[in-house]
Amino acid sequence: MELVFRDDPYCKSCEATVESADETGIRLDRTVFYPMGGGQPGDVGTLTQADGTVIPIADARKGEHHEDVLHIPAEGTALPAPGSKVTATIDWERRHRLMRMHTCLHLLCAVISGDVTGGQIGDGKGRLDFNLPDTQLDKERITAELNRLIAEDHPVAPRWIGDDELAANPELVRTMSVKPPSGSGKVRLLDIPGVDLQPCGGTHVARTGEIGPVAVGKIENKGRQNRRINIHFAA
Ligand SMILES: [Zn+2]
Repeated sequence: MELVFRDDPYCKSCEATVESADETGIRLDRTVFYPMGGGQPGDVGTLTQADGTVIPIADARKGEHHEDVLHIPAEGTALPAPGSKVTATIDWERRHRLMRMHTCLHLLCAVISGDVTGGQIGDGKGRLDFNLPDTQLDKERITAELNRLIAEDHPVAPRWIGDDELAANPELVRTMSVKPPSGSGKVRLLDIPGVDLQPCGGTHVARTGEIGPVAVGKIENKGRQNRRINIHFAA
């Protein structure tokens, strides 16, 4: 399956051919739908058939193969025939909010030192958990530093490195709970030059300025060394 979102996260729609369709989901030969993973929710949207019939897609999940995307149709929807052509279209407004928040969480990694032990991206909000023993976190300082990095409008770009290069640079892996995909010979890094660099397979905005103003909400205590930092859009 060709994962269009990986090279072009701004692509909202693509033509595709149905490969299979059953109760587990619809498989296409290519897709713009990001499947849930790495803390980022799966896309929602539609598949439009040649006769104009619209199949609402309620979620996108990874299949058995790591490059397999299952498009989960809304309940009670008739499935398309294998071999038929569809236009796959994501709910772009929602995806763009997820991309903005996802990119903001990379900036949070740059502002807070400490291993990331978990995280979740939501619509309009997001959070990361850090392993921080006995650290006082200043909500106002974190908010100010995030908004400074956003206003500086840093470029954001993925690049690929070999498994061996990653093994030689273990400090690249900030997230203890999510092992980067390896074994395929290469790993996708998300690079915000001079700010943050780490393995990530998600979708991001092209420049930090696109995130817009954010604010730190609650900072929660989740166990002895875990601090959960909640972020939301301020505008
Ligand atoms: Zn990412």
